[in-house]
Amino acid sequence: MKIGIYPGSFDPITYGHIDIIERASKITDKLIVSVLENRDKHPLFTVEERVQMIENAVKNIPNVEVESFSGLTVNYCKEKNASFMIRGLRAVTDFEYELQLAQTNRILYDKVDTVFLLTNLKYAYLSSSSVKQVIEFGGDISNFVPLYVEQKLKEKYSK
Ligand code: ADP
Repeated sequence: MKIGIYPGSFDPITYGHIDIIERASKITDKLIVSVLENRDKHPLFTVEERVQMIENAVKNIPNVEVESFSGLTVNYCKEKNASFMIRGLRAVTDFEYELQLAQTNRILYDKVDTVFLLTNLKYAYLSSSSVKQVIEFGGDISNFVPLYVEQKLKEKYSK
């Protein structure tokens, strides 16, 4: 059984992430989308809220599970018996960061391979942070995130 882990902040999940999840689910027997609890970042949503939004977005994809984890991603991969770590690539700027991350992970644990999926051109510009910037100033984010996520964002910014 080929288990893939798609780790990330997902603060919040966007159509760009969902596109990667749909495609990654086709090349793995089981895909675990995992929210990383990272104390260095200051997320807008709690881990539980992020997990819930992902669950809602992927409910129709049968071989996808959603979890959260903290600590080293490679240790989490080991624990889950995963063979692949999935990451998305948008631009050259992503590449430099992702390459360093993948090489470090490979040295830490060589039984898991990082698989990069190129962004769908439709979503090449899209990031969780740009979504937050647009909604903060009242812009239309319906092309960026599912309705459920849009509602959660509106609730956050109305507080
Ligand atoms: P992280 O903090 O781990 O970068 P993100 O939630 O920002 O968490 O991203 C998780 C993964 O999804 C990364 O590999 C990132 O490059 C990828 N990703 C984010 N947005 C897109 C997009 N629009 N298209 C393709 N991949 C994306």
